[in-house]
Amino acid sequence: MKNNYGLPKTELQKIFERDKVCVYCKKKMLGHISDNPRSDWYTIEHLNYLPPWNNPSTVTICCWGCNSSRGNKKIRDWFKTPYCLDKNINEKTVSKFVYRYISDVEDRK
Ligand SMILES: [Zn+2]
Repeated sequence: MKNNYGLPKTELQKIFERDKVCVYCKKKMLGHISDNPRSDWYTIEHLNYLPPWNNPSTVTICCWGCNSSRGNKKIRDWFKTPYCLDKNINEKTVSKFVYRYISDVEDRK
């Protein structure tokens, strides 16, 4: 991976071991090779929409499709978009790690 956002390799490994499928749509993610559809590629996802980007407690892995759809929206705002409604992505379906972030950080503001 070209850009690891200043995260130590050991932290990245832990994240990859925890998040084996997309934390949002649960799709099995694939490597970055041209035979694989781009929307299935794994990407580093930042739950926060503002820096810092090197805090492991806000970093997860999701598929390219979800990552590009979310962009820099807050997660709760993104849940209201047609992409999430269509794929049934919401606070009840995302991984525990994401749910915890939403309830600990986004809902507290
Ligand atoms: Zn996804």
